[in-house]
Amino acid sequence: MITESTATHIHWFRQDLRLEDNPSLVAAARAGRVLPVYILDDENAGNFRMGGASRWWLRRSLSALNASLGGTLNFYRGDAGEILDELCQRFGVQEVHWTRCYEPWRIARDTAIKKALTAAGISARSHAGALLFEPWSISKNSGGYYQIFSPFYKKLRAQDAPDEPVSKPALDGLLVEDPQALALDALELAPRVAWDTGLCARWEPGEASALDRLAAMVDAQFEDYAEGRDFPARDSVSRLSPHLHFGEVSPRQIWQATEPLEADPQVEAFRRQLCWREFSYSLLFHVPELPTENFRKSFDAFAWKNDPTQLARWQQGRTGFPLVDAGMRELWETGTMHNRVRMIAASFLVKNLQIDWRLGAAWFWDCLVDADLANNSASWQWVAGSGTDAAPYFRIFNPTSQAKKYDPDGRYIRRFIPELKSLPNKYLFNPCSAPESVLEAANVRLGKTYPRPMVDLKQSRQQALDAYQLTR
Ligand SMILES: Cc1cc2nc3c(=O)[nH]c(=O)nc-3n(C[C@H](O)[C@H](O)[C@H](O)COP(=O)(O)OP(=O)(O)OC[C@H]3O[C@@H](n4cnc5c(N)ncnc54)[C@H](O)[C@@H]3O)c2cc1C
Repeated sequence: MITESTATHIHWFRQDLRLEDNPSLVAAARAGRVLPVYILDDENAGNFRMGGASRWWLRRSLSALNASLGGTLNFYRGDAGEILDELCQRFGVQEVHWTRCYEPWRIARDTAIKKALTAAGISARSHAGALLFEPWSISKNSGGYYQIFSPFYKKLRAQDAPDEPVSKPALDGLLVEDPQALALDALELAPRVAWDTGLCARWEPGEASALDRLAAMVDAQFEDYAEGRDFPARDSVSRLSPHLHFGEVSPRQIWQATEPLEADPQVEAFRRQLCWREFSYSLLFHVPELPTENFRKSFDAFAWKNDPTQLARWQQGRTGFPLVDAGMRELWETGTMHNRVRMIAASFLVKNLQIDWRLGAAWFWDCLVDADLANNSASWQWVAGSGTDAAPYFRIFNPTSQAKKYDPDGRYIRRFIPELKSLPNKYLFNPCSAPESVLEAANVRLGKTYPRPMVDLKQSRQQALDAYQLTR
């Protein structure tokens, strides 16, 4: 007979690949033995199945989590509803616990799973844990969700502090292994060709490394964050985004760790960015079409050019604009791109090339280790000008003047575009302006070793503005 203490409960790991501050895992462990489960569910994800860089991260993160669980994490692949149903029957499971996710496809799937489990007499319990506050909880006094960040932020900061993180549960003797579960390798997350050298050099996925990174930022008191966060060559930002996306660290842990430094403007600037993440999730929750449809319907009439050759040059970092190219190559090599450069590269695609933001978002989705449906969709719509709290369409970043301002000594550009490394700073941001003798001395042959600019900035800017006028 199954008693309360011997009963097996499922904790379904999803975007919460951690043991600390995991209320769902705590609840499952409190109720009896725990079958820890991870399901790779590409079937329900559809077009939003994880891209290549995310899969690279996931494999390593799962491996780290499995090690923390003494090798007892059970892997499956396929439709999560069917797999959970089969596990519940085979193990006589009474409760299934998970941490809530807010992607529209996950909400639809989880709702259906909850209904089916409940109908079968099994308790299905979802828990908060991915955000500081639930996405429906920060709303206008008059009702409805915020479309502009500043008032959203003000309202969020006026709330009581987020819930305190919970400690990891004692799991000794409680973990259940399923002999029929797959090996991690059977999820086929590893790249088929070895394109991941740069990712291996840059990142260490997993809870321990996420907590180390957070501790390092706290130890350094977020020094230089407020100003330095705009300079891609500086090491001022946290690089926590993929850890946050996969739930290796929770925003509540970050909030609590930064509490003692709360009065410091550097920390305030950092916390504000964390709240942009909350804002993106609130938008995605209230506007589930955000990843696929223009928020501003006037943009539906925009005549995107979508030239595939131009798109490919942007993807490959061969636009002829060094800062854009450095960003696109950083993305390909390391699975990330600095935030300022993301804005500049995205603006270049959408405005100077008039290519649909959804094509840019799809490339980021495949290449970013932090690819996140809420942040990626909200950010691309923001840059495109089609979003809620959007940058006005006429705000078109000039990649040359942005490079002079934010990479003044050219360190970032030289790192990712070695063929320009010997060009003096005076010409680095616009190699075309260099005299032939300087190019020759720097071993740069325009059109051969490095491309000429693929568009005229002034002209393409004007064309974008004209095209925008037609939509109004
Ligand atoms: C076109 C475009 C696409 C983007 N796509 C993604 C994406 O897929 N996933 C993603 O996590 N971020 C995305 N961002 C936001 C931002 O660039 C990254 O969150 C940031 O660069 C991550 O680096 P970090 O962890 O060092 O950030 P930090 O500056 O250290 O910030 C701390 C945390 O705050 C959050 N954050 C910071 N900036 C933003 C922002 N602008 N919007 C929302 N949250 C933010 C992140 O979770 C980040 O880890 C995108 C931005 C642009 C312009």
